Amino acid sequence: IIWLGQPEHSVVTTCAYCGVGCALKAEMKGNEVVRMVPHKDGKANEGHACVKGRFAWGYATHKDRITKPMIRNKITDPWREVSWEEALDYAASKFRRIQNEHGVNSIGGIVSSRCTNEEGYLVQKLVRAAFRNNNVDTCARVCHSPTGYGLKQTLGESAGTQTFKSIEYADVIMVIGANPTDGHPVFASRMKKRLRQGAKLIVIDPRRIDLIKSPHVRADYHLQLKPGTNVAIVNALAHVIVTEGLLNEAFIAQRCEDRTFGQWRDFVAQPENSPETMESVTGVSATHVREAARLYATGGNAAIYYGLGVTEHAQGSTMVMGIANLAMATGNVGREGVGINPLRGQNNVQGSCDIGSFPHELPGYRHVSDTTTRIQFEEAWGVSIQSEPGLRIPNMFDAALHGSFKGLYCQGEDIVQSDPNTQHVAAALSAMECIVVQDIFLNETAKYAHVLLPGSSFLEKDGTFTNAERRISRVRKVMPPRAGYADWEVTIQLAKRLGYDMHYSHPSEIMDEIARLTPTFRGVSYEKLDRLGSIQWPCNDHAPEGTPIMHSDQFVRGKGRFMLTKYVATDEKVTRRFPLILTTGRILSQYNVGAQTRRTENVRWHAEDRLEIHPHDAEERGIKDDSWVGIQSRAGETVLRAKVTDRMQPGVVYTTFHFPESGANVITTDNSDWATNCPEYKVTAVQVMPVAHP
Ligand code: SF4
Repeated sequence: IIWLGQPEHSVVTTCAYCGVGCALKAEMKGNEVVRMVPHKDGKANEGHACVKGRFAWGYATHKDRITKPMIRNKITDPWREVSWEEALDYAASKFRRIQNEHGVNSIGGIVSSRCTNEEGYLVQKLVRAAFRNNNVDTCARVCHSPTGYGLKQTLGESAGTQTFKSIEYADVIMVIGANPTDGHPVFASRMKKRLRQGAKLIVIDPRRIDLIKSPHVRADYHLQLKPGTNVAIVNALAHVIVTEGLLNEAFIAQRCEDRTFGQWRDFVAQPENSPETMESVTGVSATHVREAARLYATGGNAAIYYGLGVTEHAQGSTMVMGIANLAMATGNVGREGVGINPLRGQNNVQGSCDIGSFPHELPGYRHVSDTTTRIQFEEAWGVSIQSEPGLRIPNMFDAALHGSFKGLYCQGEDIVQSDPNTQHVAAALSAMECIVVQDIFLNETAKYAHVLLPGSSFLEKDGTFTNAERRISRVRKVMPPRAGYADWEVTIQLAKRLGYDMHYSHPSEIMDEIARLTPTFRGVSYEKLDRLGSIQWPCNDHAPEGTPIMHSDQFVRGKGRFMLTKYVATDEKVTRRFPLILTTGRILSQYNVGAQTRRTENVRWHAEDRLEIHPHDAEERGIKDDSWVGIQSRAGETVLRAKVTDRMQPGVVYTTFHFPESGANVITTDNSDWATNCPEYKVTAVQVMPVAHP
C-alpha cells in the first residue's frame, strides 16, 4: 500500500463491482485517489463496504490499461496504435462494408453490465438507430436473463420486489443458489444480523456455503440437493404447502388469477411432485423438505433470496417461476420482510436490462413488436425500428459460424472468458470480419479483435448504476478518462460515422431522454438523484420519490399468474466416463473473470482457482489436498489444484472462474435455459484425475 498523504477533497460515487451497489467516497489528493471508504449515507450499504469496494479500485491506474486506440487488418497481425479518428473511421468503414455485402442484420452489439445505464442505453440506440437492427444483447444473458423472463411472466415486472432493508422484518429467510458471504458481502452482513436476531434460515444449495455454519449463524435446514434438481425441490416444497393446507387462501383469492392458481394447485398436488417421490432425484431427505416447507409457509414473514444457482440452469426460467409461485401461494409478496429477491452479480445487471439491451425489448421491458412503443422511439430517434427481435449472444455465435453474422461491437465484456464452451466462442469470433472491443485491458476477447477502443473505468465516468433492489445511484467522475474520452462519447462518435447523429453534452441528458421515453423512469433526473441520494424505480407521477416495495396493492400485471413448472432432467448426464458433476461460483476477494481484481492487492487473498472435491471422491482417485488434477468434460479439459473439503457432497466438485489460465469455461457445455438461452454453467459432467505439475 502506497501512502499518498492526507486527502484534500472527496467524491461520492458507487462501487462498480457487485449488485449491492455500495455508495463509496473516493478521498482524493489532486487527481489521485488516496483511499476509498464507504459512504455513511449510502442507502444500500449504510456505511459498510467489502474488500473489493475498499481495496480493489487500483486497477483503474494499472500499467496494463490501454490508453491508445489500436487497429489491425487480421488477428494474426500486430496491433498498430492509431488516433481516435483513424480507429473510429476504420471500425465504421468495416461495419458499413459488411452491411453492404451481407445485409443490415449481419452486425450487432453487446452491452456491458459493468458500464453505466447511460452508456448501455447509447449502445442499444447505436444498434437500433445506426446499425438499423435489433441485434443487441447484454451479458445479463449469461446470468440473470431467466429472472427477467420468470418474474415478468408471473408478477409482470422483471425485477426484484424489495429493498435490502426489508430483510430486517423477515422471520424466515430462504437462500437458494446464492452465496451472499462471497458474492454480496455487505448485504450478507445485514442478513447475518437478522439471523442473529432470531430469524430462521433455509439454504438450498449443493455446496455447504458459509451461511450454513458460521460464527453465530446456523441454517435451520440445508437442503443439499444435486445440481440440476432445483425445480424438483421447488415443486416438492409447493406439494407440501398445497396438500397440507398451508396456502394463504385470502391472498390468492384477492391477488391472483383463479384459473392459473387452480391449474398449478392440481399440478403440484400430484404424487410425482411429493418430497418422497423426488427424494431419489434431488438427494434431499423428504422429511427435511416437508419441515422446510412448513417453516416457509407458516413461520411469519418469509423472504426468498436467490442467485445464479437458480438461473444458470437448463430450467433457470422455470425455477424463477417456481419461486414466484411459492411466494404468491403463501402471500409472501408486497410488504416488508417478504418477497422475491434476485441477488444480481454485476454492478449494473439490473440497469443494463432496464434500458433496452435485450434484442426483443426496448427500454422499460417493452417488446419491439409493440407498435405504440416502437412508434414512440421512432419519433424520438428519427429512424424506423425493426419489429422483429434480433439475435441473442449465442445466436450471434451460431450465425457467425453459418456465415451470416460478420461484425460485433463489444463493450466491456470478455465473452471469450466468461461465456460457456470457450472453443465454440473462439471459433465464432474467428469467423467474423470485424470485431470492435471497447475495454480497459487487453482481455481474452481482444485476441480476436480488429479494433481496440480504450474504455474508461468507473472512476473516470459520470452516470448511474442500478443495483439489485432497483436503486439508481450516481456514478461521479473522480479523474479524467485516461484515453481522453468516456465510453458514451466514443459510442456517439461511432454512430456519427455510420450516419446517425446523437447530441448530448453530458450523461444527465441521456438520462433525461431515458426518463422521457420510459414510464418506470419518468420521474428520474440527476437533480433528484443528487437531492435524494438514490431512487428505486418505478419513479413517476404515482411514486415521485421511487418505489421501495413493488406489487404492494396489486401485481404490476394485475393478478398474479401461477405457472406450471414441470421438472425436466438436464441433458447433461453423468456416465462412467464423466461420473462427477462440476458446479461453479465466486469467492469474496475476486470478481468474475478477474480482469480488475487480479490487478489489485486482492490477488494476495486468492491467487488461483481451485477444484473443491469431497474427501471420499479424492481418496478414490488418489488425489491429495493441493495436488494438481486434470478435469475433463465432453467440451474440453483443464488443470487445477485440488482442495479436498467436505463443503462438497460426494459426486459433486466445484470451482471458481476468476483466472483465465484455469479455463473453467473451457469445460462448461452449450446447454442453456429453454426460455432465455442463459447457459447451464452449474451442471457439467466431468472426470477428475491426478496429473503431474503442468
Ligand atoms: Fe462493492 Fe458489492 Fe463489496 Fe459493496 S458489497 S463494496 S457493491 S463489491
